[in-house]
Amino acid sequence: MYRFCYYEPKTIEEACSLLSQFGEDAKVLVGGTDLLPRMRRGLMAPNHIVNIKKIPGLDSITEEPESGLRIGALVTLAELAGNPVIRDKFPMIRTAANSIGSLQVRNLATLGGNLCNAAPSADMAPPLLAMESTVKIAGLKGQREISVEDFFVGPGEVKLEQGELLTEIHIPFPPLHAKQIYVKHSVRRSMDIALVGVAVCLCLDEKSGVCREARIALGAVAPTPIRAKVAEKMILGKALEEIPLSSIGEMVSSEASPISDVRGSARYRSEMVSCITIRALKSLQSEV
Ligand SMILES: Cc1cc2nc3c(=O)[nH]c(=O)nc-3n(C[C@H](O)[C@H](O)[C@H](O)COP(=O)(O)OP(=O)(O)OC[C@H]3O[C@@H](n4cnc5c(N)ncnc54)[C@H](O)[C@@H]3O)c2cc1C
Repeated sequence: MYRFCYYEPKTIEEACSLLSQFGEDAKVLVGGTDLLPRMRRGLMAPNHIVNIKKIPGLDSITEEPESGLRIGALVTLAELAGNPVIRDKFPMIRTAANSIGSLQVRNLATLGGNLCNAAPSADMAPPLLAMESTVKIAGLKGQREISVEDFFVGPGEVKLEQGELLTEIHIPFPPLHAKQIYVKHSVRRSMDIALVGVAVCLCLDEKSGVCREARIALGAVAPTPIRAKVAEKMILGKALEEIPLSSIGEMVSSEASPISDVRGSARYRSEMVSCITIRALKSLQSEV
């Protein structure tokens, strides 16, 4: 590892001012599970490392009964997976968090880091997209909140200006009678990055049982995690057992734009995103 300057700001303002001062030559460090391997491999070489873990107030999960959960950017994936509200109300978020790395990785890795790293395959992205979550961003000029959907710009690129930090993620509670699932497909069963990740959230009408809202989010099959909005519309107004699975699978595949890489070809990903979406929908159909 090369030599670099290391900072431990105690406030958001201090961190933002360091990031603003050093610009492209500075990187935020939290769990370091993405950043440090990249620096060791020489893929990036920032001269200023700003460790934000000593900033108080960014590591808690707060339930707001009316609106949902506020999750500090420093909350680790292990804390997230172990949280009782996540377990009861957001099972797909728990599944996604538990699918990442090993327990050692999850004890260090943060939710904020997973989003800011902006890998198209980031496992936390599809469930947060399917929940229509938002992120809070702090900078020297103040705070702003944008949707997770708008946060992703491209591979490794998010909507953070120089001198800005992601501070919080807000996940609205799903409506009553919502069904949700995250299915990850990877070459190996554990410790592997997603070849395809699919999160589905269906909100059913209490009386008629038809689908009033459908959200399908895809990971690892486009430059950013995306929603399959045309396929979503094809589900609206249908009871669970009436969902046209193969047409939805075909549509999801046509909405994706995967690339070939060391893990799999674009064609394989195209086929798998269809299969995994169908698998996710079948699982929801079979729930009592
Ligand atoms: C063995 C191993 C297995 C893994 N498996 C998976 C997997 O299956 N699925 C998966 O999705 N990921 C996987 N990862 C990647 C990684 O663990 C996650 O992306 C993790 O959540 C990143 O969080 P972190 O706190 O470690 O981020 P860091 O490495 O500290 O930071 C990541 C990037 O985000 C920036 N950043 C972090 N927090 C903020 C913030 N609050 N504001 C602004 N910028 C910020 C940093 O500057 C850096 O560029 C794996 C990693 C390892 C080492």
